[in-house]
Amino acid sequence: MSLSSEKAVQTIYVDMDDVLCQTAHHFLTILERDFGKQFSFEQLTDFDVGQACALTAEEREELYRVVHNGEELLSIPPIEGAVNVLQQWSAAGYEIAIVTGRPPDTYEPSIEWLKRHAVPHDRILIVDKYGRFAADGTRCISLDALTKHRFCWAVEDSPIMAIYLATQMKIPVALLDRPWNRKDVNHDLVGRHSHWHEIARALPVKNS
Ligand SMILES: [Mg+2]
Repeated sequence: MSLSSEKAVQTIYVDMDDVLCQTAHHFLTILERDFGKQFSFEQLTDFDVGQACALTAEEREELYRVVHNGEELLSIPPIEGAVNVLQQWSAAGYEIAIVTGRPPDTYEPSIEWLKRHAVPHDRILIVDKYGRFAADGTRCISLDALTKHRFCWAVEDSPIMAIYLATQMKIPVALLDRPWNRKDVNHDLVGRHSHWHEIARALPVKNS
């Protein structure tokens, strides 16, 4: 066996919304534009925007319907620093797996968004992270099925997923610091970072 074939490729798990894309800011834009409601980013202290902004069930449903429209998704800007860091990791030989909890019917615009912003990725996994849709076992997988995948490191903003990855899958997690993940995310494997530059410094990239 050659030396190169003995080396297992390491895969990094990267979430999409509020890790690669400025999704929460876009939620706030839609809330103001379509609902006439103003909230600040710091007011988003619950992972569920509906809870954080005290929306009715109907308003929440409409907000999610609007934000998951293809054109809306494509208009969301990337988070500063993210693409550069992923390019560095990819160049260092890491595989990038985009692991999103978006509904399965957002697959096409999500792929298009990654392409438009030159986000390096080897695969995209749609995972029913929050029990919001049915996993079909092919394009969309369950949380249980996710545990069959191996990752060396994960980047998330979701407090629920950070704890799941750390406890169930024993994966070190870089948690992007956000108002909605400042409570109840205490685990030795979860490190909090305010910017992608910090995450790049924290990840022990091996070039050999
Ligand atoms: Mg996210």
